[in-house]
Parts: sequence; structure tokens; C-alpha cells
Amino acid sequence: MEFTVRSYRFNPEVDKQPYYKDYILNGFPSMTVLNALMKIKSETDGSLTFRRSCRSAICGSCAMKINGISKLACKTQVNSEITKFGIIKVEPLGNLPVVRDLVVEQESFFGKINEIKPYLLGIRENSPDEKFHVLKDGEKITQPVFHKSEFKALTGNNDTPNCILCECCFSECGTEVVNKKYLGPAALAKLYRYIEDPRDNDRDGSRLVNASKPNGIWDCVHCQACEQFCPKSISPVKSIVKLHEKAIKNSITFSKGAKHIIGIANSINKTGRLNEVKVAIDTVGLLGLMNDLPVVFRASLKGKIPSLKLKLIKDMDDIRLAFKELDREEE
Ligand code: SF4
Repeated sequence: MEFTVRSYRFNPEVDKQPYYKDYILNGFPSMTVLNALMKIKSETDGSLTFRRSCRSAICGSCAMKINGISKLACKTQVNSEITKFGIIKVEPLGNLPVVRDLVVEQESFFGKINEIKPYLLGIRENSPDEKFHVLKDGEKITQPVFHKSEFKALTGNNDTPNCILCECCFSECGTEVVNKKYLGPAALAKLYRYIEDPRDNDRDGSRLVNASKPNGIWDCVHCQACEQFCPKSISPVKSIVKLHEKAIKNSITFSKGAKHIIGIANSINKTGRLNEVKVAIDTVGLLGLMNDLPVVFRASLKGKIPSLKLKLIKDMDDIRLAFKELDREEE
């Protein structure tokens, strides 16, 4: 089977601009994109640069854009790409600076992982570990361990602990495109994993307070690209939504994101309708709204500003019942 691999090329030491280079290959349809790149490197062009290691979708090293989508090259078959696109176009991951060819700089990604403190903040006194002992060098020692129900709290909603830090979600994250300080989906999913860890000793809830500041959980726009493109079927966005719920339950509501959600819930609970003016005031305050006066003025000229006093909808009792049910479920 003959096919073309079109690779992004850029060596900052010699190239003024990035460019694309085509390689015609003879290979098997079942070969992976990583196999194809390795064939090019060993037989045609030793200067083509990319990361790879396990070749088993475990290490995450070979993540790159393949025909525009962030994927693991070792998990992507040539055949399926050729059938869909007629070519294999490989490019470096998005949202990260290119070091050379398909290799990206990873410092910003791992810096953000470190920012959420991906380790236990001490061991809680009533942690389940006190009940489990193992022998090490003939000596009985206590080991941290999860109870089944507690482990479920970590893995019940998603498979966050399975994250291989491949950066595909980071590469596809729309918020990351416009805000380079945003912690990103993988770091926030990992944060959720530590907040749910029954052994963690974060007594003052500092993890959730820090994550509620700008560039944290409330900057996610729920586009769900992270979930769509994760090669390990993890849903970072679900973890982020859980963090939103936890923050509100724990009255960590100083951020605009939390105020916005509470404003929407209050508006619906009171009138059955979304009072956008009231929600905006609840979110940024009257003073904050002053900054947007030109927009407010233009919107009012076009009749887009709803009245502050909205009529109750007909089935208001049903809405209130639904809110009561939700409160009951949460208790
Ligand atoms: Fe990769 Fe998925 Fe982890 Fe994101 S969440 S780094 S896509 S394994």
C-alpha cells in the first residue's frame, strides 16, 4: 500500500519559517502512524524529529496532531486515516510552543500539573491507611490504602487516575487558546482526583479555594473537546463540573463563575424564567455592570434588555418542586 505522510517541519536553528514535507511510503494498512514515522526516520530522513517511547498508548509521548486532531500516533492506524483523508498529515500539538518538527515544549503543561500540588498534603488522621499493614524488610509497616467505597469516589464518575499526561486535551482546549494562564483540563481533572482522595489532609480546603481563583475551574467553557479527544476516554470536563458543585456546596462562591450559576438558579427558582439583567448584576455587581454601559445601552436600543420584574410562568409549582427535589438529592 502506497501512501503519503505530510509532516510539519521546523528547525529553529536553520529554518526561518515552518514548512511541510511529503514522504511517499510503502507500508502495511495495519501499521500505525508511529510505525510510519519511524520508517521515515530510519529509511528516508533521519532528521525528522518526534517523541515516542512505549508504543502501547501508555506513556503519551507520541501525541501529535494527525489530520488536524490531537491523537497518539501509536494508537492511530494508517488505514483509517487514509480512508478518511487520503493522506496522513502530522503536526505538533496545539497550545504548546514547538521545539522542533513534531516536538513541543512541555514545561507549561507540567508546570500547571505541579501548580495543583499533585501529591497528598499529609495523611489525614482518620485515614483508612491505619488499618492496613505490610511487611517490608521483615518489619510490619502501615501502608496507605483505599476502602472500596472510597476508591469508588475517585473512579466512580470518570477514570481520571488513568490519565497518561499525553497533552491531547490541553492541545484541543479552546480556553487555553485565549488564556495561556488557564490551568487546563488535565491539571483540573487531577485536582479533582486529589480533592476526592480520602487520605488527603487539605484541612482548610485550600485546593478548592485556589482553583476557584481566575484561571481555574470557572474559566472552563464546557466545550467538551477534552472529553472528545482524550485517548484514554477520560472526561476532564466532568471532573471540572464536580469541582464547581463542590465549590458551591462549600460556599466558595467569591468567583464570578460561581455567582453566575447561583444567579441563574435563583432567577429560575423565583420566576421560572432567566432574568439576564438580574443574573448580570448578581455576577458582576452594579459597579461591574457600569464598565459595560455602552453594550447595555446598545442592547436596550434594540429591545434586548428584559424587564427586571418578570411574570411568573404558569407551571411555577413544578419548577419549585424540581428545585426541592434537587436539594433533597444533594443532602
Ligand atoms: Fe491525555 Fe486524557 Fe490525560 Fe488529557 S486527560 S492528558 S487527553 S490522558
